[in-house]
Amino acid sequence: MSEKVAVFDTTLRDGEQAAGTRLGSREKIVIARQLAQLNVDVIEAGYPNSSPEDFEAVERIGREIEGPAICALSRAVPADIEACGKALAGCKRPRIHTGIGASDIHIAGKFQDERYGRTLEEKRRKILEMAVDAVKLARQFTDDVEFYAEDAGRAERAYLFEMIGAVIAAGARVVNIPDTTGYTVPEQYGALIRSLRENVPGIDRATISVHCHDDLGMAVANSLAGVLNGARQVEGTINGIGERAGNAALEEIVMALRTRADYFGVHTGVDSRELHRTSRLVADLLGFQVPRNKAVVGANAFSHSSGIHVDGFLKQRETYEIMRPEDVGMAESKVVLTARTGRHGLADRLARLGYALDEKELEQAYRRFLAVADKKQEVFDEDLLAIVHDEIHPVPPVYELRYLHIYSGTSAIPTATVRLQVKDATGEGAAIGDGPVDAVYRAIAQVTGTAARLERYEIRAVTSGAEAMGEVTVQIVEGGRKVVGRGASTDVIEASAKAYIDGLNRLASLASAAASPPTVEL
Ligand code: MN
Repeated sequence: MSEKVAVFDTTLRDGEQAAGTRLGSREKIVIARQLAQLNVDVIEAGYPNSSPEDFEAVERIGREIEGPAICALSRAVPADIEACGKALAGCKRPRIHTGIGASDIHIAGKFQDERYGRTLEEKRRKILEMAVDAVKLARQFTDDVEFYAEDAGRAERAYLFEMIGAVIAAGARVVNIPDTTGYTVPEQYGALIRSLRENVPGIDRATISVHCHDDLGMAVANSLAGVLNGARQVEGTINGIGERAGNAALEEIVMALRTRADYFGVHTGVDSRELHRTSRLVADLLGFQVPRNKAVVGANAFSHSSGIHVDGFLKQRETYEIMRPEDVGMAESKVVLTARTGRHGLADRLARLGYALDEKELEQAYRRFLAVADKKQEVFDEDLLAIVHDEIHPVPPVYELRYLHIYSGTSAIPTATVRLQVKDATGEGAAIGDGPVDAVYRAIAQVTGTAARLERYEIRAVTSGAEAMGEVTVQIVEGGRKVVGRGASTDVIEASAKAYIDGLNRLASLASAAASPPTVEL
């Protein structure tokens, strides 16, 4: 039997942090449940001390999600670690992930204050002491403690070995060697992992974890080089979302280890048939669309268009296909629902897609489903997901769309009128704009009095064909707070209005939260 490589998902921490958007805890639960279905080994759920919202999300995920270990992030400071301990108090398999800068660049840059020492050497001693103390404190809350040596890729080797040895002696079970800045190349990063195994006393008692960033497009290659050299945990995110150019894409690592098991000689516990669904869910909820040509989960990842390829493919699949679409859950037979499908049939299909809705939610989804089925006759899985995601309200809505009318054409000035429910009252607005969407947004802004700025607007057809549902994603910003709003409809103007209103509702819910919570870049 080959050795297992644990899969550590940080979509909800590193991924969310970078998406520039804050998910509600309901959405985080939906993603976490799907990650459990995917059967990852660890879910990093958030950074509890960064904001009350993050604390609550970690607490809920820890309580409600069964299967994977649930991990919370902290710096090597007592307040952070205690917040992790508290947030994970109701969790069956809690893990605390703590750590500190290991490179001289980080030590000199982030610990300038004299209380950390005057010379670089004094600071190094102090940082080492803080690392050990952090692990010991974390161990008071759980046996499962992971330590990260931030910017390990650029750290001086002898000092890194000393630090990793000291934290293992203090009780760290997993040691994470992040390439925080995406600076290393595969041979070099692999050699770094190997050097740890050869030089750190007690390294056999810990699992080495790799955490790579994609600044030079080598996050996945670096992670795999780490595995070849003895790392037995890989960290990454779904679709590779994350700080700057992103984290290592977990779906690519998983499929590389699986497809080339002959070469790597290891396996993961991931159910690869859940990859496509997970990818779609994360893209939808975070408002980050997957490029069509993306490896493993892109829409074109398994399509063959050149004549010679198609011919070869039809004769024998293996000629041009190293993975099968069904291996990543792409070719699952699409049961087509129609307006004649009842509540039971819909609930059944949704359950197979991973959604357990309560009675009220099902009723809402069913009404939306009928409206869509009425317009486009055949409803595909993708349409259902768009409907369900549209119905997941992270917050009680302040604004609801009641009525929308637009007047537009090649020789007309686009004009929109809207009526919104605003708490117990209704408000009406009318505006002209550069186009129908602009006019609608101006009319909505008139009613809500919002000062929010539209930063990004994306529209996507959920399924193919002229009657496809349109899904609109917007990013809006107000007072330093960024949110993503989504809306889906067979009418793209209506989808646009819904996305904007969804964003405004999210902003309203954040009004009391801190403008930009502190983050840890690791
Ligand atoms: Mn990171």
